[in-house]
Amino acid sequence: MEINLISDTVTKPTREMLSFMMEAEVGDDVFMADPTVIKLQEKLAKMFGMQDALFFPSGTMANQTAIKLHTKPADQLICDKWAHVYNYEGGGAAFNSGVSCSLIDGSRGMFRAEQVKYAVHDPENIHIPETTLVAVENTTNKGGGACWDYNELIKIKNVCNEYNMAYHLDGARLFNAMVEKNETPKDYGKLFDTISICLSKGLGAPVGSVLLGSKEHIKKALRIRKLFGGAMRQCGYLAAAGIYALDHHIMRLKEDHLRAKKIGEILSGLSYVSNIEKIETNILIFNLDKSVSENEFIEFLNKHSIYLISMGEGKLRLVTHLDFTDKMLDKLEQVLKKFKV
Ligand SMILES: *Cc1c(COP(=O)(O)O)cnc(C)c1O
Repeated sequence: MEINLISDTVTKPTREMLSFMMEAEVGDDVFMADPTVIKLQEKLAKMFGMQDALFFPSGTMANQTAIKLHTKPADQLICDKWAHVYNYEGGGAAFNSGVSCSLIDGSRGMFRAEQVKYAVHDPENIHIPETTLVAVENTTNKGGGACWDYNELIKIKNVCNEYNMAYHLDGARLFNAMVEKNETPKDYGKLFDTISICLSKGLGAPVGSVLLGSKEHIKKALRIRKLFGGAMRQCGYLAAAGIYALDHHIMRLKEDHLRAKKIGEILSGLSYVSNIEKIETNILIFNLDKSVSENEFIEFLNKHSIYLISMGEGKLRLVTHLDFTDKMLDKLEQVLKKFKV
């Protein structure tokens, strides 16, 4: 039994999802003639109360498209120092859009409206870049699946309005935040100019992300997606997986959160674990005691077919997901208790 907790992207389509995909009616989406892709886009736009949506091969491309459509070269975007758009998209903001990032020193990947206000530049000052976009992430990836306080997001929206900046949400794991905090997609749809959603994370689709926004923004996004090489042909098979995930895999995310909390309880009883970050959703970050070799610990787990990742600075990360069962949780507990320092 392999227990892969490297990420919630490792899930494979369920039998039911696969057979739903096989039944999809498809067409050439570059000619906007794939009915299943259109259905997915309309479904999500309606769900969020936003005007339009566009299917993407990856969350990275959806975020990069949002950055490109909200900025011009030499602008600056404001985000947290831990943001995925800054750390994990290969420097794409600079490469694709020619923009730099003004990094906020936040907490667990989140920050306050006053910090955004300090980061905004005077557009009349020719020496400094224009700040034209604020990007937030919910839940935060490097922040260990932390969820934003919705009121703070409203305050940041007000700062964006005041200084004429666009507001983008990297919602790769937004559904995890919404089920945990009892929030609705419309709460988010009314706040942001654009939102990216990953179908391939906790929702369990094999491929696919969606960018949501106004008609005007999505029209621009369509051109940028083509330019980035992300326009696909009969991708309705993939969109069908997304439709199935939205219909069947949202509320079950709570199970992933419960299992993450259970792992947290197990870890807190182990002498060789020194710190466990607050567990809100499906990501769990912890540190080992200084006397323990991180490599030895990881090798020990790997020998028992258990996989996790190191995030550097002594942080280890576990992510629970659709393919992680209670039986695996039991085995994980046994193996963790067997590790000798
Ligand atoms: C996974 C992720 C993305 C997009 O990743 P892809 O692998 O390109 O789909 C974007 N933002 C965050 C916070 C993520 O965790």
